[in-house]
Amino acid sequence: MSLHVLTPVLHSIELGAAVGLDVSLKLECVQPSGSFKIRGVGHACARKMADGARRFISSSGGNAGYAVAYAGRRLGAEVVVVVPATTSERAKSLIGQEGAHVIVHGRSWQEANEHALSLLTPDSAFIHPFDDPLLWEGHGTLVDELAAQMDRPDVIICSVGGGGLLAGVAAGLRRNGWDATGILAVETAGAASYAAALAAGRPVEIDAISTVATSLGARRVCSQALALAEELTVKSHVVGDAAAIRGSADLLDAHRLLTEPACGASIAGLQAVRTQYPEARSAVVVVCGGVGVTREQLNRWLAAT
Ligand SMILES: *Cc1c(COP(=O)(O)O)cnc(C)c1O
Repeated sequence: MSLHVLTPVLHSIELGAAVGLDVSLKLECVQPSGSFKIRGVGHACARKMADGARRFISSSGGNAGYAVAYAGRRLGAEVVVVVPATTSERAKSLIGQEGAHVIVHGRSWQEANEHALSLLTPDSAFIHPFDDPLLWEGHGTLVDELAAQMDRPDVIICSVGGGGLLAGVAAGLRRNGWDATGILAVETAGAASYAAALAAGRPVEIDAISTVATSLGARRVCSQALALAEELTVKSHVVGDAAAIRGSADLLDAHRLLTEPACGASIAGLQAVRTQYPEARSAVVVVCGGVGVTREQLNRWLAAT
């Protein structure tokens, strides 16, 4: 049983015309958990349950924790999500609505994560938000679907937090023989841990996270995100918060889809395709989605830029 749904591909005349490309959107924002995360998380949870796990533990108050909560409810497993005190009431209530047990512990993600790990028992499994081969295998199903939905695009654009989505897209491109497709890996300047890793030649910890695109806020990317750049063409692109917010607004205006700036960053990335991949004629944007946004919040962000 797969917990994710097959998502539509929308050919966007409007966003394409603005950048002179043939643009398609892979709508991960319509997944039941509101983001692509359920692909990998659902796959990992189902596999760990088959291996005997009866309880899932997460330390993400964001889309990863929400996807674990959704997966646990669907699979009939108990879920514990440990979040720091800084987590919004809305995030806690969304996760709670899925029947997960939300524990508030500590003031930083590190403290919450340590507590989460201390709760592990022999029949429970920790679900990492981005660094697990099962996640990448699951995320890759979005490319499997694309291969049945359209011709191979020249470029695929995805956002990068810890690099799980990027690793999954790469795995999907390879297993579908789409190695010639270039990847544009987009992040915001206040969460540019992938750009830092590429520059250093290894995953490095960036000093601080400072961006509205909180779902991209991993201080260090997984090493797989770097390793795959040796087999496929991956180019990094960093945008400002204002561009990411504008990207979400553009998507909302063009297609009536509400997404986090973490996703808007990839829409903004469209503008860099012609310079980063001068030969490219077509691009797919992974509309990664995210539940951490409301109409009011997007308006506040827009007003502040
Ligand atoms: C998790 C997430 C990302 C980043 O994914 P990584 O696998 O951490 O790189 C981007 N956008 C949204 C909406 C997310 O939930």
